[in-house]
Amino acid sequence: MPANDPLISLQNVSRIFRSGEEQVRVLDGVTLSVRQGEMIAIVGPSGSGKSTLMNLLGGLDIPDSGEICIAGIDTTRASHEHLAALRSSHIGFIFQRYHLMPYLTAAENVAVPAQYTAMRENVQRQRAAYLLAHLGLEDRMSHKPSQLSGGQQQRVSIARALMNGASVILADEPTGALDAQSGQEMMAILHGLHQSGHTIILVTHDRDVASQAERIIEISDGKITADLPNRHVQPASGPVVLLPAANTGRSSWRESFHDAVKMAWRALNGHRIRALLSMLGIIIGVASVITSMAVGEGAKQKIIRDISALGTSTLSIHPGLGWDNPRPDFGNALSDEDVRLLSELPYVANISPVFNRIMEAQVEGRQMFINITGVNARYFAVRDLSLEAGRKFNEHDVETREPVLLVDAATANTLFHNDKNPTGKSLYFNNVPFRLVGITASKGLKIAGGGLNAWMAYTALQERLTGSMPVAAIEVQVAKGMSLKEAQRHIEYVLDKAHGRRDFFIETDSMMLETIQKTSDSLTLLIAAIAGISLIVGGVGVMNIMLVSVAERTHEIGIRLAVGARAADIMCQFLIESMVVCLFGCAIGVVVTFVAGTFFSLLTTQFEMVFTPLPILYSCGFSALIGLGFGYFPARFAARMKPTEALARE
Ligand code: ADP
Ligand code: MG
Repeated sequence: MPANDPLISLQNVSRIFRSGEEQVRVLDGVTLSVRQGEMIAIVGPSGSGKSTLMNLLGGLDIPDSGEICIAGIDTTRASHEHLAALRSSHIGFIFQRYHLMPYLTAAENVAVPAQYTAMRENVQRQRAAYLLAHLGLEDRMSHKPSQLSGGQQQRVSIARALMNGASVILADEPTGALDAQSGQEMMAILHGLHQSGHTIILVTHDRDVASQAERIIEISDGKITADLPNRHVQPASGPVVLLPAANTGRSSWRESFHDAVKMAWRALNGHRIRALLSMLGIIIGVASVITSMAVGEGAKQKIIRDISALGTSTLSIHPGLGWDNPRPDFGNALSDEDVRLLSELPYVANISPVFNRIMEAQVEGRQMFINITGVNARYFAVRDLSLEAGRKFNEHDVETREPVLLVDAATANTLFHNDKNPTGKSLYFNNVPFRLVGITASKGLKIAGGGLNAWMAYTALQERLTGSMPVAAIEVQVAKGMSLKEAQRHIEYVLDKAHGRRDFFIETDSMMLETIQKTSDSLTLLIAAIAGISLIVGGVGVMNIMLVSVAERTHEIGIRLAVGARAADIMCQFLIESMVVCLFGCAIGVVVTFVAGTFFSLLTTQFEMVFTPLPILYSCGFSALIGLGFGYFPARFAARMKPTEALARE
């Protein structure tokens, strides 16, 4: 830009506002140029279009027709990004109502424009302190706006306008809200800035204030009615020398991110109760997800422990091709011969055939149905059953078809009520007496289900009660050191060869474990998903609060746009704010869950909570996503605001 070109030029500029059907031509064919280093006062009655003109001069608004050129940039054609960069590096706005952010200190307010530049943080701090000190506020740096007088607040806003080294200061009624004394101080500062080379344009309706400018432009009904040099200027003070800013273009995304997180934190800190309330939904959601997963995990581990106590070294062979494919024609697939064949395998520690029959029994004059299992003497070793009383039956009993039987502890109780030791008593099946010789001890978990259970030698069962029966199952205990899976594969091979076809299937306890594990996993997941819904509800709460926050901080958005923020910066700020709410809520939720869980485990041992890292990671990730998802709409709403409208909103 050649030196004698105007800094700002307006060519036949019009600005039209629509309110409903009506169109109001607020500026009408304004032509004007401002040279570098001028001090201009724009005067005119209220509503004449002064502020509208000011916004156009600062690149905060664009005209409906005509051309505006600021520092060589055609604002009618420039992108929003370009305009933001222009405001950031060249323009400093001062407003009648100061427009400071209430939750930031004086120094932080001053530094806001530098957030959108590459100025380093310590440089920012130094410069803010330097500017405030120059404006007589060295002892007010960490005061909040509410702790400052009007004059002091206006000086803070001047320091903010100078933060990025703006060459043009646009002041819209800067003395309008000040008392006479502060107003004079204000004007003295503007004079000082003018003398140190700044271009000053100020809007005022006060003739006294206007008379201190070199050039006075009068405006009425959107038209310039006079534009005259003022020969009677009386500068109120000497020059102020200010450091030019170390302005270095736009900040990197990392710095922007860092600043945005810091700002989000400050904004939330400024509204603690509200922030906590909006987090509440997330806290409850996270707590319920983690708790339900921890309780589910605890229950699963307990069940698995209980089942493992039953022994996981056994497998059972059944006729058919699966519980879901029984194949009646394979009913006789298994035989005593198979038992003999398998018992010769080196890794088969114990083996027993199993025959089942439910029969009616007479016990001490009462009738009842008993589930009879016919087995050999090794069965008790296969199932690792121990005795509570009496004895097991032995090989000899099996050979001689002894009419003896064992029952489990629960069955003994039912059959013989209060009898402490009923061994030796008789049960009658079809009038055939069987003597009770032993009672097995019950184990941690009973899988066989309820009912009355008795074991007798399979030979005795068939000989004395049922006649010849097909083998219902063969139970095998695999020797230590052999994996169940491998044993299963080998047994399948042996039997396939012996039978000449596949007519059996093998079930292992580990399969049952897997099934239970899967079932409880999917149950836990279901509960967690239901708990996750409360997280989503929490997200809706966050969105609601974010919308309130955006509406409430419309002014702040306007200020940020005026000092050079891009729409993307605003979007980023509110998105990060909503993510900070969600992640912080998540962190509180995690802590609450741990504290409550610890407390809970002190109170009861009935069921335990087992915390694993995965649910915590999931809920953190989910919370961040919720912040992003539910923050998007409010953030976009904020980013789409027009700077002038945002500033005008009360
Ligand atoms: P001044 O600053 O001289 O008092 P303004 O420039 O603020 O006047 O406003 C000039 C006129 O334009 C007023 O009548 C005002 O109501 C109208 N106006 C300003 N901004 C808007 C807007 N965003 N939408 C509609 N009308 C507006
Ligand atoms: Mg105005």
